[in-house]
Amino acid sequence: MATLELDSVTKVFQDGNDEIRAVDGVSASIDDGEFIVVVGPSGCGKSTMLRMIAGLETITSGTISLADRVINDVKSQDRDIAMVFQSYALYPHMSVRENMSFGLEESTDLPDDQIQEMVSETGELLGISNLLDRKPTELSGGQQQRVALGRAIVRDPEVFLMDEPLSNLDAKLRAQMRTELQRLQDDLGVTTVYVTHDQTEAMTMGDRIVILNDGKLQQISTPLECYHEPANQFVADFLGEPSMNFFDVTLENGVLRGEAFEYPIDAETEADLGGTTDLVFGIRPEDIELTERANDAHDFETVVDVVEPMGDENTVYLQFAAAAGEDDDTLVATTDGFTRVTEDDTVVARIPEEAIHLFDRATGEALH
Ligand code: ATP
Repeated sequence: MATLELDSVTKVFQDGNDEIRAVDGVSASIDDGEFIVVVGPSGCGKSTMLRMIAGLETITSGTISLADRVINDVKSQDRDIAMVFQSYALYPHMSVRENMSFGLEESTDLPDDQIQEMVSETGELLGISNLLDRKPTELSGGQQQRVALGRAIVRDPEVFLMDEPLSNLDAKLRAQMRTELQRLQDDLGVTTVYVTHDQTEAMTMGDRIVILNDGKLQQISTPLECYHEPANQFVADFLGEPSMNFFDVTLENGVLRGEAFEYPIDAETEADLGGTTDLVFGIRPEDIELTERANDAHDFETVVDVVEPMGDENTVYLQFAAAAGEDDDTLVATTDGFTRVTEDDTVVARIPEEAIHLFDRATGEALH
């Protein structure tokens, strides 16, 4: 069982007199065979976390265990972990075959013919059998990426660590490799930790995603749960394109009052707030419905500011009519491509109560 356990893992770098807490008290339990995607903005500590698991970076405090064994002080080459980098890191003077067999020759006493057989099998698995005698410079980016993967797979490790492995590929190849990698991981059943800053990769590839910000764990959950039930405002904002709309509101007598709108909530929603009155109101663009007539207190008259047609859908920027002409209380909605709205139209934006999110304005924590 290759369960990977991180317990309060922290990495502090010293920058002159300043301390950089690159990873700050992260705990996570990754199941055997699970595909975990680590995501977050640039500099949030993703690579540092991966490098600590790989043994390429020391751990300032906390423990990392693999199959119930603490590996903090185990050398990188003794961890039974294979890493795939963004840069592929192939040896240019070696053939594909040599690139793939090199690690095995170094770390095992397997006879050469067995190693060659393993390389051939992996080559077949990845569809690169015909490339085994070429040098990396004679390969396309996508082929080099497969070789880098092959080199990891042939070692049959307990854990794969991947740091943005698809980021040097063009969009189409990326999409193709995304599905292929998922299928491969599924077939091999090897515990995988995959770092990316790409939302699509996070949402589509991971059994669960780990969201980091400023070195701290924000949420670890299935992609859909992170999307629909974000733990805090950071996660809500990070996932989704266009992003969730946010407005500062204050709760008074069962009504959320913002600069541009008032929104009555029912007793159940109010109970979730536990008496907190300074809130941030959140609504995803796709949860807003555009209609013609206002029927209830969750329907708002708005004026269309800008329409961005995307083909299959439109992104519509609206201004609350009640606050027209005032600064930045813009409401972004997405509609299907058939909905025809044009600039300066007056439309009704329906914001259903079951779709709203409410966050504590002081802490960012999701309350509802
Ligand atoms: P990106 O997506 O841009 O690659 P990341 O999430 O992988 O970013 P890290 O590379 O882990 O982020 O860096 C986390 C923080 O630690 C950053 O503030 C970075 O500047 C700092 N850092 C990383 N390595 C070192 C180092 N060797 N010395 C000092 N600071 C470092």
